[in-house]
Amino acid sequence: MSDNPEKFLKQANLIAGEWVAADSGETIDVNNPATGDIIGTIPNSGREETRRAIEAAQESFESFRKTSVLERAQLLRKMHELILENQETLAQLLSMEQGKPLAESRGEVGMSAAYVLWYAEEARRTYGDVVPSPWADRRILVTKEPLGVVAAITPWNFPSSMLARKIAPAIAAGCTVVAKPATQTPYSGIAWGMIAQMAGVPAGVVNVVTGSASQIGGELTKNPLVRKITFTGSTEVGKLLIKQSAATVKKVSMELGGNAPFIIFDDADIERAVAGAMAAKYRNSGQTCVCTNRFLAQSKIYNKFVERLAEESDKLVVGNGREEGTQQGPLIDEKAVESVESMIEDAVKNGGKIVAGGKRHELGGTFFQPTVIANAKPKMRFTREEIFGPIAPVYRFKTEEEAIELANNTEFGLASYFYTQDLGRVFRVMEGLKYGLIGVNEGIITTVEAPFGGLKESGLGKEGGHQGIEDYLDTKYVCIGGLGL
Ligand code: ADP
Repeated sequence: MSDNPEKFLKQANLIAGEWVAADSGETIDVNNPATGDIIGTIPNSGREETRRAIEAAQESFESFRKTSVLERAQLLRKMHELILENQETLAQLLSMEQGKPLAESRGEVGMSAAYVLWYAEEARRTYGDVVPSPWADRRILVTKEPLGVVAAITPWNFPSSMLARKIAPAIAAGCTVVAKPATQTPYSGIAWGMIAQMAGVPAGVVNVVTGSASQIGGELTKNPLVRKITFTGSTEVGKLLIKQSAATVKKVSMELGGNAPFIIFDDADIERAVAGAMAAKYRNSGQTCVCTNRFLAQSKIYNKFVERLAEESDKLVVGNGREEGTQQGPLIDEKAVESVESMIEDAVKNGGKIVAGGKRHELGGTFFQPTVIANAKPKMRFTREEIFGPIAPVYRFKTEEEAIELANNTEFGLASYFYTQDLGRVFRVMEGLKYGLIGVNEGIITTVEAPFGGLKESGLGKEGGHQGIEDYLDTKYVCIGGLGL
């Protein structure tokens, strides 16, 4: 099996089963963030191409909704098999366009395959109800049916698995999809179109459009044929999409920003906490919505935790993600580096102490040193803003109540983590945290079997778990009367 990523480097859009260019013929360059090299182009599509993709999805929906659940489960099983057969190729492609280390890319593609298999299984469990009727001569049925055309918009940080969570439950439910991957990392998204075709998914069930976010997003939200918008990305764009979807009252699922706290209590197993901290901070160079934004360490363990975190951060191997052994790749672009730099500057100005990293990496480009900042204070910007980079600020707290209050003092509510060995505290803190995801003595917790989703301004709806397919189904109540019983 060749692992040359060219195999999946498709520089076209998939509309109604055809690989096509933008109507205008215009393209956008895609670069490798580790080298700056242009790796290919993608169509710069807009409103018109999106409208055609939606119409193709609607036409395919008329027949796809009638397929049996077993047929759809089999299509997903075939897709699962194809992803695993091509795992290395897809991982190389992912690292090439996104920059993350190969080990992480292999993990992400494996996770994509796992979502597909999970929804092949869940497809068969979308039960309805037969409800006891208050009328002697009527019967009550509650049925679940595919809701129709789904628009899926995804970000650049997990270009493969974020679409897996959307395309797999959509197909399982019998819906059809128009996907818009992020412009920085489009090929892993376009690859979903190839995988679907290779697996024999009917034309028009999966469509992929790349190009102008505002034009494509504008059409996806405005067009009445689209019944659901599922989005992963920034809170700002998520709010805009909810607003735009209001006119046609679409169902919306939103996976938005986070501001994850990671609390280390005095009684924590410190080595376990440091290992969890490294994973929960530096995965994908800190560019994930569940990455720790704020470390909160209790007074007695504070100094030791800072010291160990700094030591481990200094050891991380920074480099091109496609070179074996790399543990941290580049940031996605120059803007991301500037944002990280300005947050560090703000922290230092306000009394923060850099105890590891702090600067651009000697490799140049968009590489950045893993950075630990001690003496973090509430007035520093990263208390409120999502960092999306390799900065680990460590705040100090005294009591459990103070830790919960600090942790919840944000409009976000996606991931949170805490380390303690006290069972009573586990329950008190778990129940006190206003977060959709909570890791207790664990720093990486995402898995297909569990519902992923934020509270407060971090989002709406769940992905994964048995809950993840509900958003793709309409619930209908049917009252059958005149039964003469
Ligand atoms: P990030 O900061 O992670 O890039 P964004 O929210 O900007 O997050 O992007 C996530 C996805 O949303 C990308 O596919 C991007 O192209 C898309 N996007 C950005 N702006 C809009 C918009 N106005 N309408 C629809 N999609 C958009």
